[in-house]
Amino acid sequence: MIRERHLFGPGPSNPYPEATRALAEPLLGHLDPEFLRIMDETCDMLRTVWGTDNARTLPLSATGSAGMEAAFVNTVHPGDVVVVAVNGLFGQRMTDVAARCGAEVVAVEHDWGHPVDVDRVLSAHPSPAIIAAVHAETSTGVRSDIAALGAGKGDALLLTDAVTSIGGIELRADAWGVDIGYAGTQKCLGVAPGLAPFTINDRAFERRVEKPRSWYLDLGMLGGYVGEAGVKGGQRTYHHTAPTAMVASLHGGLTRILDEGLEAVWARHQEAGDTLQAGLQEMGLELFAAEGSRLPELTTVKVPEGVDSAAVRTQLLDRHGIEIGAGAGAYAASVWRIGLMGRNARPDAVLLVLAALQDVLDRA
Ligand code: PLP
Repeated sequence: MIRERHLFGPGPSNPYPEATRALAEPLLGHLDPEFLRIMDETCDMLRTVWGTDNARTLPLSATGSAGMEAAFVNTVHPGDVVVVAVNGLFGQRMTDVAARCGAEVVAVEHDWGHPVDVDRVLSAHPSPAIIAAVHAETSTGVRSDIAALGAGKGDALLLTDAVTSIGGIELRADAWGVDIGYAGTQKCLGVAPGLAPFTINDRAFERRVEKPRSWYLDLGMLGGYVGEAGVKGGQRTYHHTAPTAMVASLHGGLTRILDEGLEAVWARHQEAGDTLQAGLQEMGLELFAAEGSRLPELTTVKVPEGVDSAAVRTQLLDRHGIEIGAGAGAYAASVWRIGLMGRNARPDAVLLVLAALQDVLDRA
């Protein structure tokens, strides 16, 4: 059980109770018909949170980074030009993964804290095979316009990281032209880390690498895992042993989100983030992410001059049981990252973190 002190931060969110309750249930075997029903329903609910009708939508048994690997290793043919929008740590990671898959990477660099410049990305190469971008950059707290990339992608495939956006802010994979997407469970879905919700459409699947350099992440073989082509009730053969408890937990978390209503959940995240960001500014703190592109679920704050970033984070944890994140990369000591994801996106959590931060800063 994740402890109360992990309420905040860019890491695991405080799980929805339905997700943790499922972990306490008796374990099901991975071929038990009851588990297969849970898996089918989970894939259906994932289609809803992705905003897709893609048959091939499933929870990969691995973390978000493996979702990233699966996306590239299945779609990059040796020498393919892959344009990657880099506006933070996870865009950087994409360039590394794509290069290891044999891509000719065209990295379009941005100042951290700013959204992806759609025109620069779309004009970076005349005919890329893939355009890749992170929807919600967890390292900087910035949202980028995936729909605009989709509208201008031409013949390229659009590959999108939705680790921190899924279940927290508007995400419409089909309407926005996303061909391949991967996510994680530990952010706004409010489930423990360890699964990668994944989706790929027919267009991308037909262009896939026939024999990718990964056995485990070869999407061509996963039909056996979730049923033929991911279709409900399809033929199943053994691929790997599904992490049944984790899938049941994801099922619990998704059920909770869809019971509340996806748009209501997005609105709850927005309201919590808006309130937190207004409160921080009232305290005289400066936000890091560019105005107009701030994620509600992950707020980045500049550490005030003369304040010891690490000492404040330690005090928040020790005195108030609240964990906030350090900045990433070059901003490790100069930015804080405050997550309000999943169950934490609520008014009382906002008030708590504002009051606790004020208390610690007063003592600093
Ligand atoms: N992409 C983004 C935007 C992330 O925030 C993360 C993790 O925080 C990842 C990818 C990698 O996911 P994981 O740590 O589950 O491997």
